[in-house]
Amino acid sequence: MVGKHPIGVLALQGAFEAHREVFRRLGVSSVLVRTAKELDAIDALVLPGGESSAMLRLMEPQELFVRIGKRIDAGLPVLATCAGVILLAEKVTPHQKSLGALAVDVERNAYGRQVFSSVEALRFSPQYQGDTAGEAVFIRAPRVTRVGEGVETLAWRSDDPVLLRSPGILAATFHPELGKGTLIHELFLRGIGRQHR
Ligand code: GLN
Repeated sequence: MVGKHPIGVLALQGAFEAHREVFRRLGVSSVLVRTAKELDAIDALVLPGGESSAMLRLMEPQELFVRIGKRIDAGLPVLATCAGVILLAEKVTPHQKSLGALAVDVERNAYGRQVFSSVEALRFSPQYQGDTAGEAVFIRAPRVTRVGEGVETLAWRSDDPVLLRSPGILAATFHPELGKGTLIHELFLRGIGRQHR
């Protein structure tokens, strides 16, 4: 899909600006999405890291949760990172409302508190080896506890799936926008047929 509208980054809360910076480095423009009107004017969406419970609260006044769900159902491609993956999951532990757009279950904050945030070496599936930046920043990340049908795992942290893909969706439980590389954003752009530098 080569869209005529820009990529939107949900900008209610969290690490949204860093995503725009990565796209900028790749020569791709993006816009911030805070309103239903702005959501209507994009061809792909980034759900950034941050605090998923806070994002859910901030979505309420404009029914953005429902609107985003509808657009994803209608084929809007999504790059989700950390809290963004929690928003997309089918089941969240402890229970929290989610879109169910990605067939995975997640446990929030499964690696411990903020002080246990870390940079980890990832193991990539064979087709992406050599292609990779290798290290990933985890900040109060969720753990993926179930990978459902139609979801492919592209990378692991020890035995935990941390980079997942299903049609139209690329999901990282870490923060690729805070790392040195641009691989994850490039994979996303390639997947939606967007040219980049
Ligand atoms: N702990 C956050 C949550 O549950 C996710 C952390 C992050 O996005 N870095 O939403």
